[in-house]
Amino acid sequence: MDIRLGNGFDVHRFGPGNHVTLCGVDVDHDQGLLGHSDADVGMHALTDAIYGALARGDIGQHFPPDQAQWKDASSDIFLQHAMELATGMGFSVNNADITLICEQPKIGPHAQAMRARLADIMGLDRDRISVKATTSEKLGFTGRGEGIAALATATLVAP
Ligand code: MG
Repeated sequence: MDIRLGNGFDVHRFGPGNHVTLCGVDVDHDQGLLGHSDADVGMHALTDAIYGALARGDIGQHFPPDQAQWKDASSDIFLQHAMELATGMGFSVNNADITLICEQPKIGPHAQAMRARLADIMGLDRDRISVKATTSEKLGFTGRGEGIAALATATLVAP
């Protein structure tokens, strides 16, 4: 069995808005996240973790931010592309673990919906997807409420 581990990291800055999209779920907030696409920092980190496990670059290489067609794009497209690449290379995702780092909004009440949404996009059982959160104890840019960071790990297996 070929087992591959990938990691992903992403950051998006807060800006004007009334919600943030995290792991495919719209969460009410008094700000939005700035980005070329929907700025779904959690889904971007997860997508990069899958590309990383496959050693196939990163999200910016597959979907260049200077191309207008990805403006305001739903990040499902990126995650689906990574999944198709994995399938094409003979791999399936065994499990993924995502950590969102922010002071606000509170993630806990939405974590189950995020797991369900990601599992749906990826065609996996929800028990293989983890979404959890932490603060940075009011330190650094996440602590000052300037943006949200996300970490992700994905394990891919091929028989
Ligand atoms: Mg991003």
